[in-house]
Amino acid sequence: MTYTCEDCGFIFFREGEVTECPSCEKNRIRIAAEEEIRRLQTFLEQGKPALRDKEQ
Ligand SMILES: [Zn+2]
Repeated sequence: MTYTCEDCGFIFFREGEVTECPSCEKNRIRIAAEEEIRRLQTFLEQGKPALRDKEQ
């Protein structure tokens, strides 16, 4: 499942259930939209582990 953090915009993939963001450790996680999943896949193909959508 691909998730996105509504707090910091982090997009990441996890096999199991996730309750907090691995980046900012807040719990405003939701399932990523299709467009976000595509963007994450592009990022992973470049050898990067995850995508941060917004600047901090
Ligand atoms: Zn976050």
